[in-house]
Amino acid sequence: MPMRKLALITGASSGIGREIARLAAADGYDLVVAADEPIVDAAAGLCGQGIEVQTVEADLATPAGVEKLLAAASGRQIDVLVANAGHGLGRGFLNQDVAEWRHVIDTNITGTLLLLQPVLKQMVTRGEGKVLITGSIAGHLAGSFQAVYNGTKAFVDSFAAAIGNELKDSGVTITCLKPGATETNFFARAGMLDTKVGQAKKDDAADVAVTGWVAMKNGEHSVVHGLKNKAQVLASGVLSEAATAEMHRKQAEPGSAGKH
Ligand code: NAP
Repeated sequence: MPMRKLALITGASSGIGREIARLAAADGYDLVVAADEPIVDAAAGLCGQGIEVQTVEADLATPAGVEKLLAAASGRQIDVLVANAGHGLGRGFLNQDVAEWRHVIDTNITGTLLLLQPVLKQMVTRGEGKVLITGSIAGHLAGSFQAVYNGTKAFVDSFAAAIGNELKDSGVTITCLKPGATETNFFARAGMLDTKVGQAKKDDAADVAVTGWVAMKNGEHSVVHGLKNKAQVLASGVLSEAATAEMHRKQAEPGSAGKH
């Protein structure tokens, strides 16, 4: 059995998760990295650093997908869990297919919790472990034209803080990373490339990953990446939900890219 520590990272095929996997590799963790589709490119970048990298292809919106991922750890102790897999969905709610918005909820909420619970039980039994969960500043904003997604992130942000408190004396830390708009596949996958936010200049995924990884190593409860996003979260605390919903409309309404 290898002596290196193990990090299990979901959503590691691209974007923020891929960058977090790079940081974990640089810190000498063996990796189990998962995504919905084969992680060929990301895995190639991680190998050759003297660590073991195992890739798992699983739809983490399903209980079977989560079980497949847990089985891939082959009973090894999971020292770090990064629950990062997630996706958005643009357009007005009435124009979204049921299967599409359910997949957002099943991935961002249900699949995340199905993974967290057994891993956290093992960590608490050992009295050690670190968990990084990717929430979002979207959780602080009523998300017109991304309503289901923002709702899932409100759940995740709140849930992470709550279980972090439940486990505060357990030796296990829960850190919630809250990025703002970040340059990844997110907006293309959500069908939001014709929106203002879809075309705006965004944060760099590698920078966001460092913010989350460092906060997790320090055992912080939550971290918002970047000053502009911190200001947005502060403003959301004083603005009405109607006001944040109107602000979100300007950024996320289909066709908003061309508007002033
Ligand atoms: P991304 O480049 O699209 O990466 C998303 C990752 O999650 C991919 O590896 C994807 O794998 C995986 N994934 C999605 N649904 C999955 C499923 N059902 N089963 C397994 N894997 C799944 O986007 P990203 O921006 O890095 O997103 C990472 C996290 O950051 C998400 O939780 C997202 O909500 C959050 N976030 C993003 C932003 C932003 O502006 N980009 C802002 C705040 C928070 P496949 O490609 O194989 O499906």
